Amino acid sequence: MIDEAKKRALIEAMAAAMIGHAEELTALDQAIGDGDHGLNMKRGFEAVLADNDVIAAKPLPDALKAIGTTLVMKVGGASGPLYGTLALALAKELPADPSRDDLARALRGAIAAVKARGKSESGQKTMLDVLEPVAAALESGADPVAAANGAAEATIPLKAIRGRAAFLGDRSIGHMDPGARSSALLVAAIAGVLGG
Ligand code: ADP
Ligand code: MG
Ligand code: MG
Repeated sequence: MIDEAKKRALIEAMAAAMIGHAEELTALDQAIGDGDHGLNMKRGFEAVLADNDVIAAKPLPDALKAIGTTLVMKVGGASGPLYGTLALALAKELPADPSRDDLARALRGAIAAVKARGKSESGQKTMLDVLEPVAAALESGADPVAAANGAAEATIPLKAIRGRAAFLGDRSIGHMDPGARSSALLVAAIAGVLGG
């Protein structure tokens, strides 16, 4: 049951992950982008955290809608609209009290929305390379956190085809994608609260 206390804890955990890892995300984005991913995510989740009392009191779909709207407005860059789209799509697809199956199905739908928005797909060295394996783990009963961390590592040898890193061509190879890392951190934060 995702009650108000759990929604509050989820927002606190996601915000703590983004604030606590802002420098790491920035360093990853300095290597293959413009060095703002840590700051973008920190700014977005600080704004969500500032609204936690209001957001956590809403039913889950409305809370996700509020989070998505805030991320679109505050994160900026490429990742703001994409994470915003993810949250807004989850808002549409999730019931107020979702099962693991509901989560898996909703995440699949939200991934499709991110792909449409980003004109992107898996294998292009983006957040999608973490989100898809997480959906697969939810479906198969595997550990989503292990799947997310392994999938973020697996972006290191990929060549970027979407986002700023694509401008680097082969020079994007050998670095972890910043959005893949932030996705893995968010998955770990969520799983830490939901318990697996
Ligand atoms: P910007 O690149 O505009 O500075 P950020 O640095 O905040 O934005 O976010 C970069 C991350 O966004 C990338 O590491 C990648 O994971 C993700 N990203 C960028 N473009 C796309 C896309 N078209 N589809 C999916 N993810 C993308
Ligand atoms: Mg950037
Ligand atoms: Mg930028």
